[in-house]
Amino acid sequence: MEIYKFGANILRDKALPVTEINQSILDLLEEMIETMILAPGIGLAAPQVGYALRMFVMNVDEGVFERIINPEVLEVRGVSTFNEGCLSFPKMYMDVVRSNWIKVRYLDEKGKEIVRERDGLWARCFLHELDHLDGKLFVDHFSKKQFRQIRDDLTVIEQTGLVQNLKPAPKLK
Ligand SMILES: [Zn+2]
Repeated sequence: MEIYKFGANILRDKALPVTEINQSILDLLEEMIETMILAPGIGLAAPQVGYALRMFVMNVDEGVFERIINPEVLEVRGVSTFNEGCLSFPKMYMDVVRSNWIKVRYLDEKGKEIVRERDGLWARCFLHELDHLDGKLFVDHFSKKQFRQIRDDLTVIEQTGLVQNLKPAPKLK
């Protein structure tokens, strides 16, 4: 699958809830996992591959590939800073401040409701991917000073993204 880069309109859209976990959704999640592994990355959200749906995949715990559907944050605590990247912003890394601990609710691929409390990288990745579902990107967390540092790189990525807008993802069956 093609990963949409900064500048692609879909990255700024608010994604819609998944209403039914059917075979098309399951196939899409598997394709997203393959795409994430190949990239390589530890998280990939549906809008990044052209689908405005509230779901993402993660591989933070070794050997564990998680399919997260209709996620919500119930509670957050603390703050931490970490040098983050994003597959929609090739070769760009920047310190981003986020909550350090989260309590979340989501559906797994079997439609089972999961409530979890996690911290560290898992929490960070979850919050980063959840942002994607609301059209929010990691650059939106940058300070003015950080933004000035990457402004030129951003323009280059944005031009790639605008070209990509000409090639929409195939429709779900
Ligand atoms: Zn991202």
